[in-house]
Amino acid sequence: MLITSMASGSSGNATLVCSDNTCVIVDMGISVRKTQAALESKGVNPKMIAGAFITHGHSDHASGVHSFRRSFHIPVYGTYETSDIYVEQRGGYGAYQEMGVELDNFIKEGEEIEIGDLTIEAVRVSHDARHPVSYFIHNGNKKVSVITDLGESNPLLEKRVAECNAIMIEANHDPTMLDGGPYPELLKRRIKGARGHLSNLQTARILRRAVNEETPVLLAHLSKVNNTPQLAIQAVHAAMRESGLKNERLHALAPYNDLREIRI
Ligand SMILES: [Zn+2]
Ligand SMILES: [Zn+2]
Repeated sequence: MLITSMASGSSGNATLVCSDNTCVIVDMGISVRKTQAALESKGVNPKMIAGAFITHGHSDHASGVHSFRRSFHIPVYGTYETSDIYVEQRGGYGAYQEMGVELDNFIKEGEEIEIGDLTIEAVRVSHDARHPVSYFIHNGNKKVSVITDLGESNPLLEKRVAECNAIMIEANHDPTMLDGGPYPELLKRRIKGARGHLSNLQTARILRRAVNEETPVLLAHLSKVNNTPQLAIQAVHAAMRESGLKNERLHALAPYNDLREIRI
């Protein structure tokens, strides 16, 4: 299996996951042009994509769905609530807006969907959107994850992470950088909250319990303002060292433009 980040971070997210025979995309928060360029650079024809799975309705995960779906007639999956336009006036930050994604099929939390030779499971996460999920995708005895936009972990998520042969997971912010950074207090609280985003340390704790030294890991959705790839990697390395582990297959995606892939 191949897992490729086409874009990562608050400016847009899209991840390609392929077996030898089937490809799906998780999130479509970038333009069709950028998606096409990324797919081309990986030798994938957009018509080969069997489905797009949307984690939640924030625009950095869903803004490209409409044009992508129209251009390539690819079926789009997400939870029912993700298809609703929803605006919650709580401090006026854009993150409380959900754009109402055009979906072809609904997927429920806890449900598995089979497409080609891939099985995709949606697992509930805690984030300030309605019914957001992360996806676990498996082919035969190989399983990978695409986990972003969550403020805290949960037991099912950790169980699934421990089953993965490769992991893409958010490491959004360094708490010290966030605290001392330029964001308004309300936004800092939202990011740190249970329905916000994972800090480097939270991610490190999840990984420490789940991975071995051989597991490839991509740290994703890094904040451009409140994190650096170096700090994210340091935090995970430090947590793993405490468990006597050393992971050499750890990479932190630079915000937005980092077409890194892992192959298992
Ligand atoms: Zn996001
Ligand atoms: Zn979000």
